[in-house]
Amino acid sequence: MVGAEELIKKVKEYNPGADEALIRRAYEVAERVHRNERRASGEPFIIHPLAVADSLAEFRMDEASICAALLHDVVEDTEESLEKLREEFGEEIAMLVDGVTKITKLKSKSREEYQVESLRKMLFATARDIRIIIIKLLDKLHNMKTLDYLPREKQVRIAKEVMDIYAPIAYRLGIEKVRWQLEDLAFKYLEPEKFREIDEKIKRNKKAREEYVENVRQVLENALKENKIPSTVIGRIKHHYSIYRKMLRKERTFEEIFDVVALRIITDNVDNCYKVIGVIHNIWKPIPRRFKDYIAMPKVNLYQSLHDVVIGEGGTIIEIQIRTEEMDKIAENGIAAHWKYKGLETDKKFDKKLTWLKEIMDWQQEAPAKEFVESLEIDFFKNEIYTFTPKGDVIELPKGATPIDFAYAVHSSVGDRCAGAKVNGAFVSLRHELRTGDVIEIITSKTQRPNIGWLKIIKTAKARNKIKKYLYDEEKLPARGAKKIEREELPATKAQSLIMIEGVKPSKIKIAKCCNPLPGEDIVGYSDKTRGVIIHKANCDSIKKLKESQKKKVKTVWRSDFSSLVELKVEALDRVGLLADVLNTIAATGTNLDTANAKMLGKEMAECTFKVKIDDLDHLRNLIERIKKLKDVKKIHIGKLGI
Ligand code: MN
Repeated sequence: MVGAEELIKKVKEYNPGADEALIRRAYEVAERVHRNERRASGEPFIIHPLAVADSLAEFRMDEASICAALLHDVVEDTEESLEKLREEFGEEIAMLVDGVTKITKLKSKSREEYQVESLRKMLFATARDIRIIIIKLLDKLHNMKTLDYLPREKQVRIAKEVMDIYAPIAYRLGIEKVRWQLEDLAFKYLEPEKFREIDEKIKRNKKAREEYVENVRQVLENALKENKIPSTVIGRIKHHYSIYRKMLRKERTFEEIFDVVALRIITDNVDNCYKVIGVIHNIWKPIPRRFKDYIAMPKVNLYQSLHDVVIGEGGTIIEIQIRTEEMDKIAENGIAAHWKYKGLETDKKFDKKLTWLKEIMDWQQEAPAKEFVESLEIDFFKNEIYTFTPKGDVIELPKGATPIDFAYAVHSSVGDRCAGAKVNGAFVSLRHELRTGDVIEIITSKTQRPNIGWLKIIKTAKARNKIKKYLYDEEKLPARGAKKIEREELPATKAQSLIMIEGVKPSKIKIAKCCNPLPGEDIVGYSDKTRGVIIHKANCDSIKKLKESQKKKVKTVWRSDFSSLVELKVEALDRVGLLADVLNTIAATGTNLDTANAKMLGKEMAECTFKVKIDDLDHLRNLIERIKKLKDVKKIHIGKLGI
């Protein structure tokens, strides 16, 4: 097991400018918060983040990645908040930890709904920084290495996820070293018998095999020496899963696959790569059409190499890879090989940190266009966003989609009743534009109905069709339907009014627009034969102007035990986040929101209307006070006294 000091020493070797104290502090925080946790193996939990950080150091990753690796399970598994990490370690490290945590929360649904492709894309999209994915891959790798301690069922689920999602991502990123390890480990748990069979055969034939490969290797090495081409010839190891996959794909036996000799030649420059081909063809016969030039035409994941297949003595098939040292490093470490850590003078031009998007853009330029388009995993940023339900399910939406689109994507009944939304824990308006990685919670209300305004703010065909269908049905059947249902859903008790007047129906009581009395203020009511009772502030100037016939004063009080829905209207200067601010305030007072709407009054003012469930008069008074204090709120009044 590596300790913190060993880790720091390792990082210092390739990055002498690394902030030792920062790494130590990250270790200390992780050690403290995980202190009472154990791995399934019974070992202290801290060995896991340490192991992940250690493997990141092997990839020579920057200190932020190392710290994030140490802290990667802190937010997910413990009470430690992301906010605290941000304060202590800064934005960059907190962002990396948050990214890894979000991916961890991604859960696959039931088998049938297993959206592998979506999840894979989601993973890319969520991780706006490539380092997040590298940390996550190494996290998975360490978990796979310690999978023995988990129950069989869990082993299979995790192994399946690794085979379907993480190994292909490692491949896509060209991190071959991690890819084959993930594959072999997953293979071991998914097909234990086949794994054992292949494992035994490999071991049984190992010695003879190695001798044979060594002979072939020597022949080639000598020939290259004679031709004065500086190079190293390595006998390649075939991994369990790659043998198995080839057996399946090519319908060959183990022997047919295993007997193929695989050699890799590393030389110093591109010219010599091509020269090596000449030397090889001088000794052995090439198999037609098996030569591939990935140096001139790199793969999407930036892999470069010459591939050739020749027939050796006794008809042995020899597979050959030829590349430079630099290409070899990229082939093994993939995108991690490109990562430049901070703090080195020579790396100044890399100071502008490469973001994930930029990396992808660069790939797009370098890779042949068609191949790029075919590599579906990375076309996510074009027109799609990936959002989560609170349970971690992925909802794929077009760019510009709103919470209403999301609600309809979940289920049309959720869409039809969509009254509000929380994005990443905060209330937003229904027009809020969703972004990749957002976690969305839809607030539904039994009395909410689709309205024509929604058609302007939605982006998906599903939402459009459902809303249109609803509106169409309503017009066709105006007398039935919604209204009737609404009445049924009202509380069983008679509708109350906020203001109590002996012998007057709640529906006949109205608030005067001139003075806009608010709950708790001194009020007077004047009865008007045609309009009912109008409520003014006791000191309202317009009372004096009332005609004698309108001055029939009635005894009027606020009901302190009032408990019902109230309609509040808030007028404010329109700005981004206005509705969200009001909704947050409503939520902060523990008030249940029934519906929320907003419309423009002229060019600058907006009127937001809320139906809220009020418990008593003090509750309402407190709520109004708090909304009044919000920035840009100009006026608040009661629309309906009781519903
Ligand atoms: Mn972990």
